[in-house]
Amino acid sequence: MANFRTHLSVATVAGVLVGLGGRQMSLWPTLEAVPITVLIAFGGILPDIDSDNSHAVRLVFTLLAALATVSGALMFQEQLAPGMLLMLCAVLFLGIRYVLSAVFKHFSVHRGIWHSLLATLLGSLLTACASYQFFLESAWMAWAHGLALGFGMMVHLLLDECYSVDLVGIRVKRSFGTALKFFDYREPLNSLLMLLLMSALIPWLPPWSALTQLVSQGMGYWF
Ligand SMILES: [Zn+2]
Repeated sequence: MANFRTHLSVATVAGVLVGLGGRQMSLWPTLEAVPITVLIAFGGILPDIDSDNSHAVRLVFTLLAALATVSGALMFQEQLAPGMLLMLCAVLFLGIRYVLSAVFKHFSVHRGIWHSLLATLLGSLLTACASYQFFLESAWMAWAHGLALGFGMMVHLLLDECYSVDLVGIRVKRSFGTALKFFDYREPLNSLLMLLLMSALIPWLPPWSALTQLVSQGMGYWF
């Protein structure tokens, strides 16, 4: 498997290329290239959320906690008094950063469920939902955000697979095939849970027509 720094650098380079490429193709303005780049870079380290690498886990949970805190503050700024709002933010941040991360660490196995295409799909759908419902982005942009996170996660899985092949000795290490798999065969219950979560998200997703439009627009530049 690739190490944390390799994952972060490769995904960041991929993010910058896609962000700038999309701007060049007039898919989005310069300002919109920033969240796209950040989402790809974040997706590039996200699967190691279940690894023993404390760097990756800490960073992912700090980012998740920050994102949840900002979303919570935006959502409740009109309903709550400043003191209550501050308390909510503190609870959200500390809850995700410390409590959720400890619970997660307790239950996860490395190269478990987060190293799979199913998790990639779930990450994409969750991002598209959050972008559309909480950040009130257009359906088109929300799908672009979802695809950006999924792309970053794919880069991670492919990189892990590349590192499973010893290119000098042309032999395949035992870890080959453990990163890029459809779902985690050893944890069918968790995979089922992910599927259920995905179906629960369906009513909250941005319209599918925007995704079709985005994909055909993107393809149009290549073919
Ligand atoms: Zn990994």
